[in-house]
Amino acid sequence: MSDSTFIKPDYQTEDETKAGNYFVSNYPPFSFWNDEDVPCVNSMINSPSQGTAPLGIYYHVPFCRKRCHFCYFKVYTDKNSNDVRRYLSATIEELRTYSESPYLQGRKPKFVYFGGGTPSYLSAQQLTELTDQMKAILPWDEAEEVTFECEPGTLSEKKLSVIKEFGVTRLSLGVENFNDHILGINGRAHRSKEVFRAYEFARGLGFDNINIDLIAGMLEETDENWSDCVDQVVDLSPDCVTIYQMEVPFNTGIFKNMKEEGKLSAPVADWPTKRRWVAEAYEKLEKAGYTITSAYTAVKNPETTKFIYRDRLWSGADMVGLGVSSFGHLGGIHYQNITNIDHYCDSVEAKKAPVRRALMTQEEERFIRELILQWKLGRVDKKYFQKKFGISVTERFSLIITKWKENGDLIEEGDYLVLIRDALLRVDSLLHQFFLPHHQDARYV
Ligand code: SF4
Repeated sequence: MSDSTFIKPDYQTEDETKAGNYFVSNYPPFSFWNDEDVPCVNSMINSPSQGTAPLGIYYHVPFCRKRCHFCYFKVYTDKNSNDVRRYLSATIEELRTYSESPYLQGRKPKFVYFGGGTPSYLSAQQLTELTDQMKAILPWDEAEEVTFECEPGTLSEKKLSVIKEFGVTRLSLGVENFNDHILGINGRAHRSKEVFRAYEFARGLGFDNINIDLIAGMLEETDENWSDCVDQVVDLSPDCVTIYQMEVPFNTGIFKNMKEEGKLSAPVADWPTKRRWVAEAYEKLEKAGYTITSAYTAVKNPETTKFIYRDRLWSGADMVGLGVSSFGHLGGIHYQNITNIDHYCDSVEAKKAPVRRALMTQEEERFIRELILQWKLGRVDKKYFQKKFGISVTERFSLIITKWKENGDLIEEGDYLVLIRDALLRVDSLLHQFFLPHHQDARYV
């Protein structure tokens, strides 16, 4: 899960892509997470009552073959097998500690997500050992979904069969683009032939749900190439397609170059172009029978292809975040782990909680968090918020709702508030309007 910088409203509506995070991935903003609330995580999981929210596990694999120029995650490209072994052992110890706490004891995960970094960087043997140990601590037999992120160049048929064997139901391929020149200048480690090979292996092995990630607006992207990428995805016909609009956070290689060259605008397409590209992709995908299910995803069959991790997370599930830099949410407390791998391992080995910052949220903040995240689905269920929080969204935010309706961004359909497509594609630039006043100008990582 990524960190996010919340950008001032006027900044977001500018056309050019400037440095800074664009996506709103959580609420309240990370700058309000702090040291003082760190002990709350431990107190809460050791309080006598067991949690009742659906439980998930997020497991962070911080290793990659190469660092992409647009990457802002905490990843390591220089670790040897001893470092990897030490890390895997620490994460298992971290999981064991959580599983023994009164808050988690006896509960089983409803979803498991392996993200990174590159989970598929690990060898077949490392993955088998890791997942066997994880299941022995917290069995996955009630998990509705197990997602695994892959970099296509790390996948062999054997490794994919192991991944299938340990229970992955949703395989997510980080394709990003099909053009080898564009992949190369953006620092990706894989090339298109590895995508086709991995996809064929995965299809042959019968994964329930294969997702392909694309990025609209990589360095040197063009109209023609983007159109070709979308055609190639339609030809492959994955169960799910996820499209992100390129953002250029401060801790990326692209920003480093911008700074050296004294440039303020990133050398990637502007926001209207990126939105047009996503709109064109969605039109083609809809023609091919897909349904748009969020600002970022199209699925072939919405009846059978779900994204449980996203839907649970966006409706207040508990999630244990394991590993360096991981984000978790337990009993209304947000937390993030230590962001340096050695310090993370040292802390777990010393039997200390490896939590770096946390925030004990208030009920109103939890309401706003869910509302913000669910806007990304393009439709908000008024009844859901009334029932769960006792709040009428249309009354609480009447000014914003009225303005959006007048602008033509929103329509009301029975119990649902529905964003029109154009608004959905710029939803992340609209969400700060719901922030509480003291969170409005937050700008941070
Ligand atoms: S593969 Fe993903 S996590 Fe790894 S460097 Fe590239 S963008 Fe970052």
